[in-house]
Amino acid sequence: MVWFKKTSKPIAAPAKVKASRVPEGLWSKCPGCSQLIYHKDLTANLSVCPKCAHHFRIGAADRLRMLFDDGVWVEHDRDLVSTDPLQFTDTKPYKARLTSSIAATGLKDALIVGSGRVDGSPTVIAAMEYAFIGGSMGVVVGEKIARAIERAIDARCPLAIVCCSGGARMMEGALSLMQMAKICAALARLDRERLPFISVLTDPTTGGVTASFAMLGDLNIAEPKALIGFAGPRVIEQTIRQKLPEGFQRSEFLLEKGMIDLVVDRREMKATIASAFRFMGARPRLQPRSVPTAGAELVPAPDPLRDEGAPRLP
Ligand SMILES: [Zn+2]
Repeated sequence: MVWFKKTSKPIAAPAKVKASRVPEGLWSKCPGCSQLIYHKDLTANLSVCPKCAHHFRIGAADRLRMLFDDGVWVEHDRDLVSTDPLQFTDTKPYKARLTSSIAATGLKDALIVGSGRVDGSPTVIAAMEYAFIGGSMGVVVGEKIARAIERAIDARCPLAIVCCSGGARMMEGALSLMQMAKICAALARLDRERLPFISVLTDPTTGGVTASFAMLGDLNIAEPKALIGFAGPRVIEQTIRQKLPEGFQRSEFLLEKGMIDLVVDRREMKATIASAFRFMGARPRLQPRSVPTAGAELVPAPDPLRDEGAPRLP
């Protein structure tokens, strides 16, 4: 005998939802004007909204692709990795954070250094990767930038650094702060060699990066509406107990106050950098530079931009 008897029919399983034929990630919504933009159109437009010119954040590799001729460059010091000198742990160990960032971005740290040609002229460009622990500047970023500067001096070519960073990397403590002094000293050498340096400030450029090399360019160029500052607006507001003005710490505000030299649309960035470097004396170099005489054995000219791949520091 059964105590209970089901009188109603069991609830039917929901009818299978028809699978969408539109694959994920085909469209992006613009945070500026809420327009839906087809991904391919966005990429073709260098990740700038065609309607309101909102600049989407882009990665370091895209940045270099955008600036170098034909999107071709030689990467340097690719394999430098942080050794976690302080054995630091916050919500999770720094080592684990590094491992997951390396897996997510395919980079060993938050910077790519490349050399190639910009409008025909040999140039060294370093670009920061925000997706790698907030583009923070640790020992590896500092070392790579210092080496990039030395490389520019050796090759007698100009240097550009594309900044995109939350500041110094707290997991490396004082060691990350020392990079500020190290990079500034290297930039002073570049200056003494009379070689130009352009700093490109993108959204966001804050903390120790703003406090050091980001503001030391012979020309400091920012992208529109980029957040550029040292401390965040909330911290400043709480400290000075005053309401901050509209557009505070954005590129246009800083341009008006004389903190930066230019605000340039990403789509015109390459042309602007190239013409500025030309103005400052960069010249296209023909390759090979030595013309062999008749009968002489053809030996490729040594390219000072070539990566030796031999790390000079441990
Ligand atoms: Zn838009």
